[in-house]
Amino acid sequence: MIISYDYDLSGWNTFGMKVSCGCFVEYGSAEELAVQWNAIRSGDDFPRPFLHIGRGSNLLFTRDFPGTVFHSDIRFIRPLTDVHPAAGQDSAEVLVEVGAGVIWDDFCRWCSENALWGPENLSGIPGETGAAAVQNIGAYGVEIKDIIRKVTCFDCVTGNSTGFRTSECRYGYRESIFKTSAKGRYVVTSVVFALSSEDKPRLEYGHVRNAVEQALSENGSAPCCGKVGSGHAMTPGLVRDVILSIRDSKLPDPDVVGSAGSFFKNPVIPRSDYERIASIARIEYGQEYEVPHFDAGSGFIKVPAAWLIDRCGWKGYREGNAGVWERQPLVIVNATGEASPREILDLESKIRLSVLEKFGVELQPEVEHI
Ligand SMILES: Cc1cc2nc3c(=O)[nH]c(=O)nc-3n(C[C@H](O)[C@H](O)[C@H](O)COP(=O)(O)OP(=O)(O)OC[C@H]3O[C@@H](n4cnc5c(N)ncnc54)[C@H](O)[C@@H]3O)c2cc1C
Repeated sequence: MIISYDYDLSGWNTFGMKVSCGCFVEYGSAEELAVQWNAIRSGDDFPRPFLHIGRGSNLLFTRDFPGTVFHSDIRFIRPLTDVHPAAGQDSAEVLVEVGAGVIWDDFCRWCSENALWGPENLSGIPGETGAAAVQNIGAYGVEIKDIIRKVTCFDCVTGNSTGFRTSECRYGYRESIFKTSAKGRYVVTSVVFALSSEDKPRLEYGHVRNAVEQALSENGSAPCCGKVGSGHAMTPGLVRDVILSIRDSKLPDPDVVGSAGSFFKNPVIPRSDYERIASIARIEYGQEYEVPHFDAGSGFIKVPAAWLIDRCGWKGYREGNAGVWERQPLVIVNATGEASPREILDLESKIRLSVLEKFGVELQPEVEHI
């Protein structure tokens, strides 16, 4: 276990906020955490409050954190069943357990290298596997809950290890029990994924199918119309490459420009509110204009926050060291690398106010403010 005091967190948040914490604790295994937990919990050596982080890619540190920050260095990728089931074997399902500290995209790459389907649409999402299960990360029509079989946690109240089946995690849009009713109680130590050795591409979202077809034709294979994958060079690796290149064209690389990805959640609003927004849009952009939207069920409509922000004129905006990403207005950036938490918070407030004034919609941050 590594324990450091007055620790610099600049490298532990993708926004690049120059903040520190009172104490930083990194443990290498679930057993180590369990053995040390009583001493940590009862000792005066560890300032309060406690916070567990991954790579800080969904966090905005608004100031120095006075307490103790925990980080998992549990790194293993352990197949629990045959990675290459023999032809004729009953099931193509492959179960793999992954340590919470494994970089999520390293696991996605491992799956591609082993021709296993499951996480390819989630390639390139920053952060670690434990946090990914907490966040229910999602992209391009897939959420991590779709491939999770079990989440193993350390229970900070009982000091024991405990397992959650997927249904027990109460997953929703970027939500789970670990972020809501049980927040702070459980530390994810590993996640079991159910993958498939049989073709299972999910290409229905946006332009993914077109992009994959183009990549296939450039590779000299026939396009993947109809029964996708059969007879073509359709691999998880190919889908992964396509997803990575779509992401590269839209999102800032956190190693180059600081951000925490999508800053706001897509609002889910009553249909009557959507109709009001649609009529504002028709007046401004013409009678044929259709506001992008998705049916969220039960009379509710999901409207892309990016559209609302864009229509308020924020794309590419700069104020001091903070800004809005020119290719994706949902992303607030540390444009110079020198932005203070105050600058990011001020810009966040201005964006929220303008969307509220123009469309009557209150945006909620997706990024957790610490
Ligand atoms: C450029 C960019 C693009 C992004 N794109 C996407 C995207 O497409 N889809 C998407 O869903 N997200 C996206 N994100 C957001 C972010 O990558 C995810 O939310 C990610 O899962 C956060 O992982 P992390 O390791 O950085 O966790 P952190 O940000 O450090 O923590 C996130 C939460 O998990 C908790 N936590 C961390 N580890 C553990 C653990 N072991 N046990 C219990 N709790 C824990 C923390 O307390 C915190 O509440 C993007 C971010 C960036 C910067």
